[in-house]
Amino acid sequence: MTATIIDGKAVARLVGDRTAREVTELPDTPGLATVLVGEDPASAVYVNNKRKQCVQAGMLDLHQHLPGDINQRALATTLAELNADPRVTGILLQLPLPDHLDAAPLIARIDPDKDVDGLTTLSAGRLAQGAAGLRPCTPSGVIELLDAYEIPIEGAHAVVVGRSELVGKPLAQLLLQRNATVTICHSRTRDLTAVTRQADILVAAAGVPGLIGADAIAPGATVIDVGIHRTDDGLRGDVDFAAAKEVAGAITPVPGGVGPMTIAMLLQNTVTAAAARYAAGRFASGVAS
Ligand code: NAD
Repeated sequence: MTATIIDGKAVARLVGDRTAREVTELPDTPGLATVLVGEDPASAVYVNNKRKQCVQAGMLDLHQHLPGDINQRALATTLAELNADPRVTGILLQLPLPDHLDAAPLIARIDPDKDVDGLTTLSAGRLAQGAAGLRPCTPSGVIELLDAYEIPIEGAHAVVVGRSELVGKPLAQLLLQRNATVTICHSRTRDLTAVTRQADILVAAAGVPGLIGADAIAPGATVIDVGIHRTDDGLRGDVDFAAAKEVAGAITPVPGGVGPMTIAMLLQNTVTAAAARYAAGRFASGVAS
């Protein structure tokens, strides 16, 4: 059996089209403030892609490029200014930050209603309680992929390998909300393969190249590979794709699987955040009378 290949680029395009349409239906234009500190080349590429797609979707690009030697207090001040700026409906602080900066207290300063990365404590709490809020982009992208390919989540046994705040934990919460039976595996899990073989939906987000081989997958299971590793042969994931596709029912490739979804969901979040503000009467030109 050869698995269905889940085309993340195609699904990301659909989400992008939907987002652009939703932008035109809003009473005001959303604005995304990406914040890049320093000159890290990989971060610069990511931020440029986000800015480009933000403009393509019809939103304002309110980018801030700050010097690599900026101090904690000055960066906190910039975030406070963005929180207060009515044109800014979404704020994204590009990580990682230079070593002299402490990311956690800076993320904590982002207005949760503008937290389009879904990383603040309040966003995590809203997710855990199933309350309305902004969800982390990569995990929501995984759910969007499953839905696009009509892979049933309700009642399925979903195994998530990885428990990071960025991917594993929020994804487990999203799957739980959709009524999956969720198992979370991590670096101390005993006999990982025995657990992953029980999965109807297996998500690899461990950051270990090739961790999931064919023997770790139940025949016909859906395999979502979140891992990204730069190798001499190009980008690779946490799954041994060539072997896994012979066992799985559906599988995401790397590149071209989860990766393109992350930016698509960021733009979607920017629209969601803007729509909530406008619904509360808070427009770029000030509060409606
Ligand atoms: P992380 O390092 O913060 O977390 C990794 C998690 O995997 C940890 O919870 C750890 O316990 C678990 N783990 C590590 N080794 C393991 C093992 N041998 N067996 C079982 N569990 C193990 O990483 P992260 O930020 O969650 O990212 C994970 C991967 O996803 C990385 O490769 C990262 O580059 C990639 N990523 C991709 C996207 C995307 O847009 N596609 C976004 C974010 C992260």
